[in-house]
Amino acid sequence: MTTGERSAVLGDFEISLIRDSVYWWDGGAMFGDVPKTLWSRKIPPADLNRIPAGFNCYLISTGDHTVLIETGGGDKPDARSRERMKMPPRTEELPAVVARHGFDPDAIDIVINSHLHWDHCGGNTIVKNGCAHAAFPRARYFTARGEWEHAHERLSRDSVSYIDANYDPLVESGQMTLVDGDCEVVPGVWMRRAPGHNRDMMAVTAQSGGRTFCFLSDLVPMAAHLQPTWVTAFDLYPLQTIEVKTQWLSAAVKEDWICGFAHDSEIAFARIAAHPKTGFAAVPL
Ligand SMILES: [Zn+2]
Repeated sequence: MTTGERSAVLGDFEISLIRDSVYWWDGGAMFGDVPKTLWSRKIPPADLNRIPAGFNCYLISTGDHTVLIETGGGDKPDARSRERMKMPPRTEELPAVVARHGFDPDAIDIVINSHLHWDHCGGNTIVKNGCAHAAFPRARYFTARGEWEHAHERLSRDSVSYIDANYDPLVESGQMTLVDGDCEVVPGVWMRRAPGHNRDMMAVTAQSGGRTFCFLSDLVPMAAHLQPTWVTAFDLYPLQTIEVKTQWLSAAVKEDWICGFAHDSEIAFARIAAHPKTGFAAVPL
């Protein structure tokens, strides 16, 4: 289910939600040290304490380029983990999902991964006969160099989040560009550092006609995380998340941005309003 609009027009840019699928994840993990008595009022858990989450991707048509932000959960999780997350069986690869949403997957010439956790870049590649190939052969892929290096550090804390087949074949073939810091990928579309969830995560902004769309990625994975202290248990640097989130959301309020969330299962696009109690609140389009 989606509340409000599934697409938004900003100046010359049209931005659309492409939802790869919905999956179910432990509510406690999604809200870190926030007591269940509080978060369950916003998102009531179902069986096994799980709450619904979206693999949300956003497609930006700029007129000159078709940019896909994130590529969802992909085909690498095995049957056991798919069942644990109630991920639907992989009957449709991401290009087919894009087509079902009414867009030509072959038109995608840019793919941006905010970071390389499997649930953000799983559809970058498709495995056939044991070999991972680019899902979007025409596209140039972008992610942060520091994040790619971090993925290869194989830290016990978060190595489970990284599946090399989602990005290494693209880096090896030269199809994936590793960026150092803030970067304008195509005119008006920027990857910008937004650390906290991890060291090198990037948010994505798209600006046209004086308006800004912002994909907040896991800085604000769901609208329920707009309260700055509501931080997931996965975040490596929670104090930094709170600080960076407050900066970004203050700008969103001041400049009337339209924001997209990586994992909200209902809200695709929202304006951000200041809220006297919680700091910030979503106003769905
Ligand atoms: Zn993440």
